[in-house]
Amino acid sequence: MSEVHPKLEFPVWPQYGDEERAGLHRALDQGQWWRMGGSEVDAFEREFAAYHDAEHALAVTNGTHALELALQVLGVTPGSEVVVPAFTFISSSQAAQRLGAVAVPVDVDPGTYNIDVAAAAAAITSKTSAIMPVHMAGLVADMDALAKLSADSGVPLLQDAAHAHGARWRGRKVGDLGSVAAFSFQNGKLMTAGEGGAVLFGDAELYETGFVRHSCGRPRGDRGYFHRTSGSNFRMNEFSAAVLRAQLARLDEQIAVREQRWQVLSGLLDGIDGVVPQAGDDRCDRNPHYMAMFRLPGVTEERRGEIVEALNARGIPAFVGFRAVYRTDAFWESGAPDLPVEELARRCPNAEALTADCVWLHHRLLLGTEAQMYDVAAAVADVAGRG
Ligand SMILES: *Cc1c(COP(=O)(O)O)cnc(C)c1O
Repeated sequence: MSEVHPKLEFPVWPQYGDEERAGLHRALDQGQWWRMGGSEVDAFEREFAAYHDAEHALAVTNGTHALELALQVLGVTPGSEVVVPAFTFISSSQAAQRLGAVAVPVDVDPGTYNIDVAAAAAAITSKTSAIMPVHMAGLVADMDALAKLSADSGVPLLQDAAHAHGARWRGRKVGDLGSVAAFSFQNGKLMTAGEGGAVLFGDAELYETGFVRHSCGRPRGDRGYFHRTSGSNFRMNEFSAAVLRAQLARLDEQIAVREQRWQVLSGLLDGIDGVVPQAGDDRCDRNPHYMAMFRLPGVTEERRGEIVEALNARGIPAFVGFRAVYRTDAFWESGAPDLPVEELARRCPNAEALTADCVWLHHRLLLGTEAQMYDVAAAVADVAGRG
């Protein structure tokens, strides 16, 4: 007979309280529920920019739109190429493809799962219009090497910071790294209003272009329908911004807990034969830990699925990792490179392996007690360890 294991219980996500409630009432009582009439979106943008040491923040409808808008502002045009990591959530490549650009996936580092900068450099052509590093699970990509690549090639960077609220690279927040950064506030993200997104700009002109485009190309204060550029309606509403102001105020304390818990948990996972936790990088001196990720080198995708199910049965919020973007039907609908999938797979051996062997645990688990990290590691060892 198989052993019965008591289910572990972790804090719920999202977390909220009187601050979010007060914010919602504040927004409601303004009588104007869009940003053009209220003050919550404006206030949130100021607070979010200041928190990330950025000059400007533009709040938008969601993280996918944040990427799409940022790429457009950076000059990504139909037919141009955007270099993206092969191992990421599909929005990274989809945003480029929605603009009519070609998404060019490149391999990631097998330890950090972040974009391989040498592979990104090798993928640059005369058509490349942007390079999009993703700060995987909160671990900032090698922004030193990427900034140099951008300066040398003249190709702008767009940081996909959907996992990286509050992250730091050598003491600098992601809004202070000399490139545009896009965030998500979707329900599972590190701060949330159910949906939402933001773009950080260091440059006033880019920010202004972004503002006009996020509001149907309409200049500020326009009353005569003189739409100046193409665009769409990517405006955040007042309720979301009011909730996000409260969520931002919770972030630092939660990051401190997650950093401590991941230190414990990753050490324990590292000691399990057959389990390899995501590597760190000392230059990323603050990691907000959007996911607790690890690999099970050598497992089949099927076996990995069984392991994830077994972890869930014990109350551990475990999920299979992303699929290499070119391993989806969506990727091939439009804006894919003119290469067979086998060739992309040959160029991205690490993304291929990660597609089968990567597991992630929800960050709410890292808000659990330190003692629970031992329970989690014991369960992983039990379910996934070799011998
Ligand atoms: C969540 C996420 C996005 C998209 O954000 P949405 O708000 O869900 O549209 C983009 N990139 C990455 C890496 C993400 O994890």
